Amino acid sequence: MKDEPQAMTANASGAGTTPAIRRPGLVTTPLSQPFWDLANDGKFAIQNCVDCGHRQHYPRNICINCWSEKLTWMAAGGTGTVWTFTVVEKPGHPAWAPETPYVIALVELDEGPRAMTRIVDCSPAEVAVGMAVTLQPTWDEQLEQTLLNFAPAASE
Ligand SMILES: [Zn+2]
Repeated sequence: MKDEPQAMTANASGAGTTPAIRRPGLVTTPLSQPFWDLANDGKFAIQNCVDCGHRQHYPRNICINCWSEKLTWMAAGGTGTVWTFTVVEKPGHPAWAPETPYVIALVELDEGPRAMTRIVDCSPAEVAVGMAVTLQPTWDEQLEQTLLNFAPAASE
């Protein structure tokens, strides 16, 4: 048994349960808001530099390649490879304890940028550096936000 609190309480309607400990909410800024809005449409948005063509994630005010301020949003194709990963056994916040063990990874998108994400729909033991993954948008009821997880790409 785990030591972390996992108490559940019935919700007001009695139709289900909600975790007693809620996940910390997102902190968005005017700069990051477009990313989260597009995530709710199931899209992984990255920034594209109009001047040099560099693509980047996470959102920034300037291009990290040429310092241009002319950045536009584009939807990445949703495919990439695991660049590195770790298996979380003891999360930094107790609200995530019921999810353990889970995989946090840096996924290198086919467009170039690397993004921190979760690898879902497989055992942590199956995850490997270089593994092909595809976007797996997942609605999070507590956060009221689609999270941009990734899952192993379907084998051919
Ligand atoms: Zn640039």
